[in-house]
This record gives sequence, C-alpha cells and structure tokens, in this order.
Amino acid sequence: LTTFTDEAKIALDTLSGRAAGLFAPSLRLGVTGLSRAGKTVFISALVHNLIHGGRLPLFEAQKSGRIARAFLEEQPDDAVPRFQYEDHVAALVNDRVWPDSTRAISELRLTIEYESASGWNRMFSAGKLSLDIVDYPGEWLLDLPLLGKSFADFSREAMEMAALPVRADLSEGWRTLAAAIDPNADADEMTARRLAEGFSAYLKACKLDERALSTLPPGRFLMPGDLDGSPALTFAPLPALAERRPRPGSLQAMMERRYEAYKTHVVKPFFREHITRLDRQIVLIDAMQALNAGPAAMADLERAVTEILACFRPGRGNFLTDLFSRRIDRILVAATKADHLHHESHDRLQAIVRRLADRAVARANFTGADVDVVALAAVRATREGTVKQGRETLPVIIGTPLKGERINGDTFDGKTETAIFPGDLPDKVDTVFDPSVTSLDGGDPAIRFVRFRPPKLERTAEGVTLSLPHIRLDRALQFLIGDHLA
Ligand code: GDP
Repeated sequence: LTTFTDEAKIALDTLSGRAAGLFAPSLRLGVTGLSRAGKTVFISALVHNLIHGGRLPLFEAQKSGRIARAFLEEQPDDAVPRFQYEDHVAALVNDRVWPDSTRAISELRLTIEYESASGWNRMFSAGKLSLDIVDYPGEWLLDLPLLGKSFADFSREAMEMAALPVRADLSEGWRTLAAAIDPNADADEMTARRLAEGFSAYLKACKLDERALSTLPPGRFLMPGDLDGSPALTFAPLPALAERRPRPGSLQAMMERRYEAYKTHVVKPFFREHITRLDRQIVLIDAMQALNAGPAAMADLERAVTEILACFRPGRGNFLTDLFSRRIDRILVAATKADHLHHESHDRLQAIVRRLADRAVARANFTGADVDVVALAAVRATREGTVKQGRETLPVIIGTPLKGERINGDTFDGKTETAIFPGDLPDKVDTVFDPSVTSLDGGDPAIRFVRFRPPKLERTAEGVTLSLPHIRLDRALQFLIGDHLA
C-alpha cells in the first residue's frame, strides 16, 4: 500500500511541525465540507468577528475581555495560496453578495494576542497564538479510501453506486458509453477522454441534482483545483474487468496507470502535506439542503460524514493511523445556514446533526478525538419577527431574498425585504431519517427555503459599525480554539 519513504516523510513533517510549534505557539485549524457547505463564508465571518471584536458571548476569552487584538500575518507556507479574506469580506460587507466559494486549498494566518486567564500562564507564556486556518474541499478528503483500493475495486464500486436507483438515471449516459468499451482494446486518448468526461459529468450531475446527493470519489473530478485536464484526471472506472493483469498497451492498462498516478501524485501528497499537520478540524455540512430534499439525501449526507470522519481517524492497519492519532484532537461537525430557520428550530437542527454525527462516529469506528456538533450561521442573513394570520401569530424570518429566488410564483428582485414562514423542523429526530416520510410536511419543499442576501451591517447609536452578525459562531470558536487561550 505504501512505502517506507511515505511514512518517513509524514513522520518528519509532523515532527518539524511540532518543533516549530514549540517556538511560536500555533494551531492549525482545518475547515472543510462539501462544496457550497459554507467554508468561505465561515472563515470570512470568523476572522471578521475576531479582528473587529465581534459579539461573541460564548467565546470566553473575548467575553472576559482577555483578547488584546487579532490581526492577519503572513502565512508560514509559501507554496499554498492565501485565503482571499479581504476580497471575500468586501463582497459580503460592501456589495452584500456571497463571496466566491472554495475551489482549492488555501490558508490564512490570524494571530491573536491575549492575556492568559491564569496567573501562572501569564508568567510563562507570551499570550500569543497563531491560528493557521486551512480551507480545503471536502471532496478531496473523500479520496483517502482510494489509497487502499485497486483500480478493479474502484471500478466495481463505482459501477455499483452508479446503478443504484437514486443515481441510475443520472449515470445512464456514462454507463451506456462504458458498456460499449472493450477494456482490452488498444489504449486511445480520445476514448479515455470521452469516458473521463462522461464519468465526471455524471458526478457533477449528482451534485447539482435536487436530490442533493453527496459526493463520490475521485474528488478532483468535481474540484480539480489546478489539475483540470491533466492526464492524472483523464481516467474513469471500467465495467466488468477480468481479474488478470491487463494487457500492456490496452485501454485498461492505461486507465489503471492513470488511476495509480492520481493516488501517488495527487491524493498522497495532499494528505501528507496538509491533512496530517492539522490540530483541529471543523466539518461544515449543509443539512438544510439535505433536509429539504428528504430522507434519502439525509442518508447520503450521513454516509459522506462517516467517510469524512474516517479520514481523520483511519482504522488500524492504515498507514496514516499513528500519525493521525497524535494530531487532531477535536472535531466539530457544524450544520451551517441556521439563519434559514426560526430560533425555535435551532436546537432541533442541532439534535439532527448530533444524531447524524453519533451514527457516523459509531460507523466509522472512530475513537480518540472529541467530536461535538453545532447548528450555526456564520453570517446571519435574517432577523426574526411575527406575522398575524387570522387569529394565529406565526414566527417568521425576515431578510432580502436573492434576486431571482421564487416563492409561490413570485420572483424576488434582490432589493425587497420579505417575511417568510420557514416552517419548523420536526421535534422527533427520527422523522427526518425515516425513508417512509417523503417530505417534512408533505408540502412543496421549495416554499420552505429561499436564499437571502448577506445582511446590512448594523450601526450602534454612537455610529460604530458592528461586525458580521452570526448564530452560534462563538460556540464553535470556543470549542475549536478556546482552550488554547486559557
Ligand atoms: P463553500 O463552497 O463551502 O466555500 O461555500 P460558501 O462559503 O461559498 O457558501 C455557499 C453558499 O451558501 C453561499 O454563497 C451562501 O449562499 C450560502 N451560505 C453559506 N453560509 C451561510 C450562512 O451562514 N447563512 C446563509 N444565509 N447562507 C450561507
């Protein structure tokens, strides 16, 4: 599976990372989640709130006034793109549009100067923590299991998944194409490209489909980063492969070689250089979208969360096991976009995520790190109110729906504030996982969630502009970094 050099390299990287940590206290926080889960928005809001002294009552160091200042510094890794914080915040705050989403890995160093809570620590530490925030697509993480799979295993599993009823229609075009191929025929670049394009179109269709299906590997087919069009991405699973070794020069041999190249040159370096160095991790999930799509999407989301968690604590016998078990000690699974619900439903959303995470932890046979859950909105785009309907007073959320969003045939212009009754989440957690319940309330799910524009920042009576509003971002911060500021 791996060579001694891989292990040695990881061990060295880990050691040097730790040695560096001795001199300048630093904490590497990984931020991941499948595309559109809210990574960019989360990091922008977190940094904005820390730099501008946001309202973070559940973040103890801030609440007790021990944070002297937080500021951006040059990141330690020159070869990794910088997270474009300034652009993203300008989009959110000045233009009130959502920033460009994560497409590849990026990094940002935020340094926090603080006064330690204990006199003992005050005497011995400088009260300075460098938080290195590493943003990367969750799709890339889901590639880890490929390291343990041959091309034949990968092909068989991909074919089985593609034929499942939820995916069969989306994969039909590619499966028809693949069925007509003779793996033993001479290798041919055009055929390889057609198959790779067909396969990646099917994976993308799964992502865009309203069934809200979660992602299947290889992750770079959905999020290629800078590898778009390279041979390492020009392969696809093949059907009905014989067990014997492929004939040299055949299509199968070519596909197999590229699959192995993908593992060696893409997957392994990513884990070695980035994932093994993380100390803490937040996994963002768009539970709202899955809830809206129904129990099949919830089951799919649970599978993706299980696979993601398994990457941070690979089972015994995996070459990453030892190195991981000494590293990431806290993982937060966070449902984002809670501002689409009235606060009465926030605890319910959190309970749903807890169930999902608990089952994922059990299934991933996961031990050794604390896993917590939270329902949050990194940026709160709505406020709450009530609307009278006959004798009833209904809780509503008020925000400016994005231009082009529709409810009941009305199309919004992106300028008008509107009150929307978002519906409640069921108080019984089981309901949302129960395949016999097709929709949360039997109604048209499109009524329930519209996308809003980012909020207008509030000003205090003294004319001070407040930082980006949020829901429970402070709770997430406390869990992820609070103990390092004690
Ligand atoms: P990424 O692909 O994980 O980087 O996802 P983004 O951070 O770009 O978020 C994707 C989209 O989700 C955004 O464009 C917003 O429409 C929405 N979104 C993300 N976070 C929030 C949030 O806290 N509140 C609301 N209302 N929408 C959010």
